[in-house]
Amino acid sequence: NMPTETFEFQVEARQLLQLMIHSVYSNKDVFLRELVSNASDALDKLRLEKLWDDSLDADVSDLHIDIDIDKDARTLTVRDNGIGMSYDEVGQLIGTIANSGTAKFLQELREAKDKAGEEGLIGQFGVGFYSGFMVADEMTLLTRRAGESQGTRWSSRGEGTYTLETVDDAPQGTSVTLHLKPADPENQLHDYTSPWKIKEIVKRYSDFITWPIRMVPEGPAAGSDEAPEPETLNSMKALWARPRDEVSDDEYHELYKHIGHDWRDPLETIRLQAEGTFEYQALLFLPEHAPHDLFTRDFKRGVQLYVKRVFIMDDCEALLPPYLRFVKGVVDAADLSLNVSREILQQDRHIEMMRRRLTKKVLSTVKEMMTKDKERYDTFWREFGTVLKEGLVTDAENRDAILAVASFASTHHETEPTTLKGYVERMKDGQEDIYYLTGESRQSIENSPHMEAFRERGIEVLLLTDAVDEVWADAVGEYEGKKLRSVAKGQIDLDAKDEDTSDAEREKQTEEYAGLLGWMKEQLDEDIKEVRLSSRLTVSPACVVSDAHDLTPALENMYRAMGQ
Ligand code: ADP
Ligand code: MG
Repeated sequence: NMPTETFEFQVEARQLLQLMIHSVYSNKDVFLRELVSNASDALDKLRLEKLWDDSLDADVSDLHIDIDIDKDARTLTVRDNGIGMSYDEVGQLIGTIANSGTAKFLQELREAKDKAGEEGLIGQFGVGFYSGFMVADEMTLLTRRAGESQGTRWSSRGEGTYTLETVDDAPQGTSVTLHLKPADPENQLHDYTSPWKIKEIVKRYSDFITWPIRMVPEGPAAGSDEAPEPETLNSMKALWARPRDEVSDDEYHELYKHIGHDWRDPLETIRLQAEGTFEYQALLFLPEHAPHDLFTRDFKRGVQLYVKRVFIMDDCEALLPPYLRFVKGVVDAADLSLNVSREILQQDRHIEMMRRRLTKKVLSTVKEMMTKDKERYDTFWREFGTVLKEGLVTDAENRDAILAVASFASTHHETEPTTLKGYVERMKDGQEDIYYLTGESRQSIENSPHMEAFRERGIEVLLLTDAVDEVWADAVGEYEGKKLRSVAKGQIDLDAKDEDTSDAEREKQTEEYAGLLGWMKEQLDEDIKEVRLSSRLTVSPACVVSDAHDLTPALENMYRAMGQ
């Protein structure tokens, strides 16, 4: 056996722990939800691993979560017989904050700290396992990974360090024991040694968990000396299969928090019941905030696939297109094989139909938010607009539906974005195209010399600042018969109908300036294609324009950054 070793928490983890320990967060009850959620994940994982690898040495016949209270020792234990963790995994998963986004988030958290109260802040991100330190002054975790013989004990007082040691006789799975902080005589509401309290919390936050959450009642059963049978605290009913009017919004929200590993309520809940030859039920959620790793390669999708109430897989990418990867939820299909694989799903005709229907449902929900609850729509678009716009490039079938819910910054208003419909309604007499300009920021775009003529003539220009904007604007090409045109590309003839800049006039001017234009062309030969007179400038003497089909500088940068 290895000796007990002491390790330091990673800096970010320590900061998170400090927040937990000194938290004034009023709803401490949720620590139990987090531990139960982890236990439930561990049981799901074990069941699946065993399904794929029958030779795995693990008993999956009686998977459950047990909660034990020891009043005298003031401890509370949450135990599962799920997948467990190896020695290395405990160090990686519990000792550090593996999620790369979290470190960045903590930085923002510190910066935002002066604005919001601490209470609001903690509610803004998932701290999972660490939330135990809201109620405990010491946490011990004993675990053994399925298929391995040696177990691991992790222990910490949440201060700067934790210890790890190997253990010979650990049962398979994980048990987390909280040594509860001293009782607060003023506040009996938070007595986590009370079975009544534990039952209430489980019922409130974890009722839908598909594994039994059990607790052994105190003392021997009436009329017998034998240890009492454990009592199952949750109903285990699948929320998505229950009629809408039987389920409260709070219940839906708790399911979201479990699936989405989020502490906040979702922005929107979407239900869909498909009847007919291929039956399925879906319960999808739009989060209120974009996760920080949304644009990283290994971003985890959040839609789970069930077959007739049995969990089949996590982050099922076949159910929604990549540009809806932020959607969380559950899809339960009646007629799929229990050991369907990701590869099969990608080609399955029914799954394809399902994906199309779910995609349309999500987009129509956003459309509805737009008309019925503008504020909520604004939140949605602020958080997810950038990723949704990817769909304009990749999903031709739903292009119009995405364009209909898209909004963009515009010279029409300082802060209020506009829809394309709004833009078209405001178009000037004789204006045929929709104009836009891409750039790093609103300010840099507004300062561009390309904007001068448009500003002068009061022509509205969309101000697009996401990298994806150039790609979709090119791919989409037009909206309701109006061309989308970059004001930085090609020749834009704003005065086409203007008498005094007739063709003859322009020719005359070009002749007049031929010497200058020729000289400039010679000087800049390496870097440019042509020099021409323009009516697009009012203040700046000259500007650089791309060919209609050239890459714009921002896009060139993007491709360069991608190594192409
Ligand atoms: P999250 O659940 O969002 O990943 P947590 O802090 O709750 O974050 O847990 C961190 C990780 O520790 C989990 O992702 C999981 O890999 C591991 N873990 C936590 N609890 C358990 C458990 N009971 N059994 C197995 N692994 C666990
Ligand atoms: Mg968790």
